[in-house]
Amino acid sequence: MVAPAKNTNLRIADVVMPLLTRRSLLAGAAAAMAAPSLALAQKSYDVDIVVIGAGVAGIAAARRILAAKRNVVLLEAADRVGGRCITDIQTFGVPIDRGAHWLYSPSSNPLARFAGPAGLDLYHAPPGQKIRIGQRYAREGELEDFLANLVRARRGIADAGRGRGDVSCGKALPKVLGDWRDTIEFVLGPFTCSKDLADVSATDFSRMAPRNSASFCRQGLGTLVARLADQLPVRLSTPVTRIETWRRGRVTVETPKGNIVARAAIVTASTSVLAEGKINFDPNLPRRYTDALDHLRLGSYDRVALEMTGTPFGPQSDDLIFQKSDSIRTAGVLANVSGNQICMVDIAGKFGRELAAQGERAMADFVVEWLTGLYGADLRQSVKRAYATRWNEEPFVLGAISAASPGGQFARSVLMDPIRNRIWFAGEAVDETRWGTVGGAWQSGERAAEAAMRQLGFIAAPREPAVAPRRRRRQPRRQPSRQTQPSFWPFRN
Ligand SMILES: Cc1cc2nc3c(=O)[nH]c(=O)nc-3n(C[C@H](O)[C@H](O)[C@H](O)COP(=O)(O)OP(=O)(O)OC[C@H]3O[C@@H](n4cnc5c(N)ncnc54)[C@H](O)[C@@H]3O)c2cc1C
Repeated sequence: MVAPAKNTNLRIADVVMPLLTRRSLLAGAAAAMAAPSLALAQKSYDVDIVVIGAGVAGIAAARRILAAKRNVVLLEAADRVGGRCITDIQTFGVPIDRGAHWLYSPSSNPLARFAGPAGLDLYHAPPGQKIRIGQRYAREGELEDFLANLVRARRGIADAGRGRGDVSCGKALPKVLGDWRDTIEFVLGPFTCSKDLADVSATDFSRMAPRNSASFCRQGLGTLVARLADQLPVRLSTPVTRIETWRRGRVTVETPKGNIVARAAIVTASTSVLAEGKINFDPNLPRRYTDALDHLRLGSYDRVALEMTGTPFGPQSDDLIFQKSDSIRTAGVLANVSGNQICMVDIAGKFGRELAAQGERAMADFVVEWLTGLYGADLRQSVKRAYATRWNEEPFVLGAISAASPGGQFARSVLMDPIRNRIWFAGEAVDETRWGTVGGAWQSGERAAEAAMRQLGFIAAPREPAVAPRRRRRQPRRQPSRQTQPSFWPFRN
């Protein structure tokens, strides 16, 4: 069971006219015909901008538009806000993020600053991650060996990413990764991108912003995101089915509950939802957009949450544990989440997709079996309850993260281009460096809102700097240092 969404609709009447029914549309048109032309101009829009989707990007866009004192409505297909960010508090009585949990690079993450004022507690994720080799933890020397190979793998992908043609990250991996290859493939592929490295563009991967640190929200990242939608004019359970832009200067957005006419639309539905044609564009999306969406279809990433008794993983909170594996049938564990007796096991990529397709029972069975392989048969007795997410089946999301497929490195910049200066895309996929993260989704939502408002003349274009900025002195290239601590951050560039 998922925590019920807050009713964020309460103040919609203050901000926007109710959604129009066909009858009210006709009545409105008749009234407008009788009215003077100024009134017609004023009445021909229901809102300035309509935002489609109340996930992180949609929330950011709506907040930016309201901050500029323009009116906006958020149309959300699901019966809750947050999209791929949702905290479940009911199942085990403690917060569990079903989707995003890591707030990467908190010092520059746009969401981090909201936690304190919202009364939520953000704390640093511990830097020390562990590797399980058989039924013991890796020793310092083994970890160093792993780290050296991880750096080598990242360097191979970065070199390929700078090359002329795009290749898959799988192809870009150096030949010599020893017996760490499968572990590295899991950490950089399914665990980071939700796809196997063979299915990820090396150019896209190498543009990924460094994720050098992270924070956790004690009450859940989904809780924070939902708080940010408080007071926004959201219409829940209102799936957009069609977006029409034939008439100059206006966008008509159709839903089963009626239509909205706006000056511009910001579309934040996931790339898989759009690639599947769940929203009909009229006129059709140009080919380069459909190609881009196809390259950015979401990978698979699911979470099995286990309620435990005792501390089979040891006493430390938020321990991130990987397995030294020799196959793709592996996972990542976050143990003792926020000090609770909860463990989150993440499965992803091709293997994760196949397993998730078999249902929650199969997922939980795999995870318990896999953990007993790492911690001994007694662990089975420590598992009280389990449940699993199935993001590929969520009809308004259809997956996890938009790592570009090989050859698809062009796709993000295509989606940044507005269509007819009326439709802007936003969402995690529409950010060239922070794709796949809540920070990237937030940034893209704000960026789309600003671009739309600038186009409509609601805000001024940023002024050119009076003096040319001083050229930054070239920094010497950082050499990958040998780690002295037995810890690593898997995403470090
Ligand atoms: C299991 C999992 C773990 C993750 N872990 C992390 C992490 O630790 N850290 C991190 O930074 N990121 C993580 N991510 C990625 C992160 O969740 C996403 O990047 C981010 O939440 C995407 O936000 P968004 O607004 O772009 O899209 P979404 O969250 O998909 O929001 C789009 C919204 O549009 C709505 N919608 C769809 N179709 C329609 C329609 N026709 N009409 C109206 N509304 C519609 C959807 O219901 C949804 O609410 C994870 C994702 C998953 C699935």
